[in-house]
Order: sequence, then structure tokens, then C-alpha cells
Amino acid sequence: MSKVEEKKMTKEPELEVSLGRSCFSKECLYFQNRSAQLHIEDVQVTCPLQFEHDSQISNEEGEGSEKVTCDFKGQIKDLDSHLKNSCPLKFVDCWYKSFGCDYNCHKQKLQKHLISKLKFHFDLIVTFLDSLKQTIQLYQV
Ligand SMILES: [Zn+2]
Ligand SMILES: [Zn+2]
Repeated sequence: MSKVEEKKMTKEPELEVSLGRSCFSKECLYFQNRSAQLHIEDVQVTCPLQFEHDSQISNEEGEGSEKVTCDFKGQIKDLDSHLKNSCPLKFVDCWYKSFGCDYNCHKQKLQKHLISKLKFHFDLIVTFLDSLKQTIQLYQV
């Protein structure tokens, strides 16, 4: 009993110090966030990807006529989900990435890629299925 007590005595102050420090910094961060939010919550923002897009000369091959634009305008709290889910300027990977297609493009243009590279994607899947079949046969022996 006395040994346990002794251990506690030596450990506890150390614990208190580190806890105290982290609590303080958390509170501090929380406070900073809140006061910042008060100011920016009502500000209307446009899509930062659109801004980036406008400020750089498009050097995409040939298809320049098809301009991708994002007309998002809204509160800053909606921006995150816009960029994650609905922004047409967002770069997305091809659906067949896991089968070997490394193509990525603006979300709006992906449909075109999926349609025009149908045969290529089909071949990728055939190759994938072949190797899958071989793997399964390996395990069946
Ligand atoms: Zn956008
Ligand atoms: Zn693809």
C-alpha cells in the first residue's frame, strides 16, 4: 500500500503539469477560433479554385473552347463542402484509378473522359479480372 502511494505521489505532479498545459492551449485555440468566426461568418466568398483558374493561363491541350467555371458564392462555412463535393473546378481522379488509369481532371470534364476512353477502361478491367482470376487459382491449389 505504501509503495503504491509512493508511486502515486511521484507521478501525480507530473501528470498535472502536462494536463494543465494542454488544457490551456486548447482553450486558447478554441477562443481564437471563436473570435475569428464571429468576423468571417457573414462574409460572402467566391470559389478559390475559380480564382486560381482565372489567374493562370489555361494550357490544356486543344479543348480550350470548353471553359470550366465555378460560380459558387456563399458563406465561408459552406465553402468546405462545396470544394469537397460540388465544385466543378475540383480535380478528381478517374473512376478507374484503382484499375490503372492515372487520368485526373476537372470534375465537370470527367464524364467526357469516361465516355471517350471506354475501350481503354474496359481493357483495364479485363486485365484486372485476369490477374484476379490468376490469384484465385493460385489460392485454390
Ligand atoms: Zn468552386
Ligand atoms: Zn480513366
